[in-house]
Amino acid sequence: MICSCNCNLKRRSEKSPRKTCLQGFIPAVILTIIVGISSPVEAAVRVVTTTPGYADIVKQIGGSRVSVASVMRGPENAHNVSPRPSQMMKVKKAKLFVHSGLDGEAWAPLLLKGTRNANLLPGRPGNVDLSRGIRLKEVPQRGQLTRALGDIHVFGNTHYALDPLNVVIIARTITDALKRIEPSAADEFEANYKAYAKRMRDLADRLVKKMKPFNGIPVVTYHRTWPYFLARFGLVSIGEVEPKPGISPGPRHLIECVENMQSQGAKIIIVETFNSLQNAQSVAGRVSGKAVVLAQEVKAIPGIDTYEKLFEYDIDQLIAAFKEVGVKPKRSE
Ligand SMILES: [Zn+2]
Repeated sequence: MICSCNCNLKRRSEKSPRKTCLQGFIPAVILTIIVGISSPVEAAVRVVTTTPGYADIVKQIGGSRVSVASVMRGPENAHNVSPRPSQMMKVKKAKLFVHSGLDGEAWAPLLLKGTRNANLLPGRPGNVDLSRGIRLKEVPQRGQLTRALGDIHVFGNTHYALDPLNVVIIARTITDALKRIEPSAADEFEANYKAYAKRMRDLADRLVKKMKPFNGIPVVTYHRTWPYFLARFGLVSIGEVEPKPGISPGPRHLIECVENMQSQGAKIIIVETFNSLQNAQSVAGRVSGKAVVLAQEVKAIPGIDTYEKLFEYDIDQLIAAFKEVGVKPKRSE
């Protein structure tokens, strides 16, 4: 066989390829190295986030200037994650580590400690705590910090990203962090932030209007994942299937849930993808209601891969569930 580059080197056989043509190979290697050095992927700021939702926001702001990975896949419980060794390696190489702060991801400090990347430790420029700037709900009064009310949320409720206007605040924090790490692209990050913030505010306006006929309707949630979401969209939580955050319900508490829903006229239970739909359905069935699974996180449900899709999906699912159980919308004024 004759080499395709016309160097006249005859290949003796496939079994003995000792003599090979280097004429085209060497320039190809040099080209690969040059392309590799100037590749936007190589030049991108490496970011690791705890959740796929934060990764979505980093991508919206950073565009092609960031390379982002999240520790979580999406459907799992953010309070209870076991990072894999491969994820530890990604964090080790990252310039930014983006997380919820507080005790939302109690596994994150251990992950950071294991990576020995000093730049990502709390208080360092690479550590981006998104709880800063958020008006937290359910913060214990001074001196009341206790785990008596459950194992989690001891500094306040950590599910603040489920309000589209909090997503705007999160995007601001991420933009500022990216500008610190990559000042040469500051104008680009700022322009992306402005466009994203406008889209998110417009979405919030539209969905709040859509939910207006259902304002004041009582619902039960499985975990206390939803206070920010419910407050933004005008719904009222009357209790949880969990007796305390992170604690599974026993039969007695499930009976109390049924009685609570009966007395307050609630028909809908909102369930996270990682919690027991069966438990929720057994309670909802007793009041001729419905348990509805919503996306508590980006990628918790297939196809819901951005916060914009998450809010659209959750509101549509809720309205469909209300209609199914006969909750009548108020006439628009
Ligand atoms: Zn929680």
